Amino acid sequence: MTRWRHAAATDTGLVRQTNQDALFADDSLAIIADGMGGHAAGEVAAAMCIDLVRRQFRENPNVEGLVEAIQEANLAVVSDARENPEHFGMGTTIIAVGLTYDLAGIASPTLVHVGDSRAYQLRDGALRQLSEDHSVAEEWVRMGRLTPEEAAVHPRRHQLTRGVGVEDTIAIDVTSIHAVAGDRILLCSDGLSNELDNDALAHLASAPNGLEFAVESLVSAAKVAGGHDNISVILLEFDEVNVSASPIRRTMSSAPPPASATTRPTGAGRRRRIVTWRVWAATFLFLAVVAGVAAVIHWYAYSTYYLGNNNGALAVFRGQPSGVLWYKPEIVAETPYPVADLRPSDRRAVNATISEPTEEEAITYAKNLYKAGELTRGNLGTPTTTTTTTTTTTTTTPG
Ligand code: MG
Repeated sequence: MTRWRHAAATDTGLVRQTNQDALFADDSLAIIADGMGGHAAGEVAAAMCIDLVRRQFRENPNVEGLVEAIQEANLAVVSDARENPEHFGMGTTIIAVGLTYDLAGIASPTLVHVGDSRAYQLRDGALRQLSEDHSVAEEWVRMGRLTPEEAAVHPRRHQLTRGVGVEDTIAIDVTSIHAVAGDRILLCSDGLSNELDNDALAHLASAPNGLEFAVESLVSAAKVAGGHDNISVILLEFDEVNVSASPIRRTMSSAPPPASATTRPTGAGRRRRIVTWRVWAATFLFLAVVAGVAAVIHWYAYSTYYLGNNNGALAVFRGQPSGVLWYKPEIVAETPYPVADLRPSDRRAVNATISEPTEEEAITYAKNLYKAGELTRGNLGTPTTTTTTTTTTTTTTPG
């Protein structure tokens, strides 16, 4: 059997215009929600969260019921913010202790937590923090990037890494509370923990003059210290307490559980698959562009023919006389016409290259040049050979 007594108070503080905190406490459940969001949206998120968790947990008072209640509240806040533009960006923290029943029907206290509202355990005047803040600065402390002292004044100490109503999935810290009769549990929003140090919290929350007095003292002290934010406090004191037979301390996520590798890839697997697909697509595109550019260069490099001097005879070259990149001109036809037999002006023209659109026209032009040279020399005979030989693999430089 687990029984607790409880007292609770919430206060707007001295600076805020409205109180966006909400709380609830009875014999089996204690919740604080610190709403965030413009206008009245934070109040809406906090109230929705508390209302849903209360109702769901009443129907299913076990660890799974408590976790599912928060997951449902999360989805409800997310969808409300999507449907109502004035609620865009709203969310809330939650810190709650529920008496959860195990399979044997024994109830023990379980802490659930998202955000930077806090839970402390008090025993014999000593204070121990049960929750870890889900804020950027506190995450950095856990990673060793900041000291607790640096985190306490860090500009990102109020920036949350988790919240109810922020994303479709939510990770919830779930912890079994190990307590003995007489222990107290302090739940509070950051409006209390930011104003009072641990010594003040321990001293005021342990006050022997009843729970209500202790709660009022804590709220008053936070206001004296500045009251910069809404202040919410719940104090529980165990009269009797069971410790869970199967204690829990873990983070439970509402993200879909990974299926077996043979049926469905995990989130990481899917991500890798998407990356691989994109890499292949980008590689293919890149190669296609490179191949296209190479084809255009090749076409340009070999799109023309010209007459040149090949070891003293006219030859037909294919390509650009000075080459294009690595594409050098190549001999496609040799002729029996000695360059020396051409008219002097034609010899100079050959050395400066004479372009023709096709191989056949280039050969015909070579023959005409030779005939013109013969006429000039007064020799009407024909060359010893008129056959042209085609070679397509010889690469040389133009003569
Ligand atoms: Mg707050």
